[in-house]
Amino acid sequence: MARTGPDDHVHEYFGNIHMHTTHSDGSGSFDELIDGAVRGGLDFVFVTDHNVLVREEEEGYRRGVLTLVGQEVHDTERKESGNHMLCLGVETDVSGQAKDPQQLIDAVRQQNALAFLAHPIEQGTRLFSDTYPWRNWEVTGYCGIELWNYLSSFRGFTTSYLRAILVAVLPHCFTFGPLPATLQKWDELMQDRPIVALGGTDVHAVVLRRGPISRRFMTYEECARALNTHVLTRVPFLGQAEEADSDFRHENVRHDRELVLDGLRQGHCWVGYDLVGPTQGFRFWAEVEAGAVAQKTVAIMGDTVTLPAGSCLRLQVRAPRQAQIRLLRNGRVIAQGHANAISYDVRDPSVYRVEVWKHRWGKLRGWIFSNPIYVRRAEDE
Ligand SMILES: [Zn+2]
Ligand SMILES: [Zn+2]
Repeated sequence: MARTGPDDHVHEYFGNIHMHTTHSDGSGSFDELIDGAVRGGLDFVFVTDHNVLVREEEEGYRRGVLTLVGQEVHDTERKESGNHMLCLGVETDVSGQAKDPQQLIDAVRQQNALAFLAHPIEQGTRLFSDTYPWRNWEVTGYCGIELWNYLSSFRGFTTSYLRAILVAVLPHCFTFGPLPATLQKWDELMQDRPIVALGGTDVHAVVLRRGPISRRFMTYEECARALNTHVLTRVPFLGQAEEADSDFRHENVRHDRELVLDGLRQGHCWVGYDLVGPTQGFRFWAEVEAGAVAQKTVAIMGDTVTLPAGSCLRLQVRAPRQAQIRLLRNGRVIAQGHANAISYDVRDPSVYRVEVWKHRWGKLRGWIFSNPIYVRRAEDE
């Protein structure tokens, strides 16, 4: 669909995806989770407790936060741990299908919902050797992967008790972005078909105890301020209806829920490490010449676009602040600059995506990971 500019008819919302409560192994109630989300300024949350679709907690607006309920499903009897799947937008519990990952994906799709492979690659250490990676890579039909699992991204640093304590106290110092192996796997998968990337916190708000001292590791509020998935929509949320009429209220929630799901489904989203700095306003789009001097936006992140015959396609990136912007083609950096914006003319059909890196706490850290623009030739249609 033709657009005129990167900000026209675009609305941006961000939220935490992949969250646990006392309905599974999280330590907080829905109310505590919402407290954290409100303090973190989130627009939405996606609660995904293990193998349960929490129905006693209705989806809807809670103190201004759109609260959506999905589930994280895995086979509890599986010998080799792993194959956790985020099922977003499901109306009925699909955990009965957990034994066969392909059947599970099919069951999610039958509900017009979205399946994401959670923490698909995990790094264990001697101290924390249990890992839960995705194991059955032959499956098809899933919407995408959790490119950056915040909780999982600390694991590799817990190589000694001292380091584990440091990670528990200062987790933000010990994460640098998605695991390089996950990025590489994602780039490989996208050579076959679009695979949407999202970022999840996997917040459990675990209570760590040592004698009389106890501390919550990665609270809901800390996670809300840290790693979010930012979604672009064409129309705005209807928001919290004040009317007493509950039908009307449900209608609003359904509408806004569909916008979030659709933004994820289409990959109109990016992973933002907002703790390094707010990532609102990031844009990645493709445009073509439209007459004398005008440019016309023809695609945004997540879209597939055809190379125009006889002219080139210009990719444009705008970062919220000056930072290290990298444009990648099939996983390799082809252009970069320390800037607010970069552009690049493409003539080859490929998968183009953007990473933005920023210095914080003494190190260069992954800040923004966009979904790609898939460029194809006219004859590929
Ligand atoms: Zn998991
Ligand atoms: Zn989880």
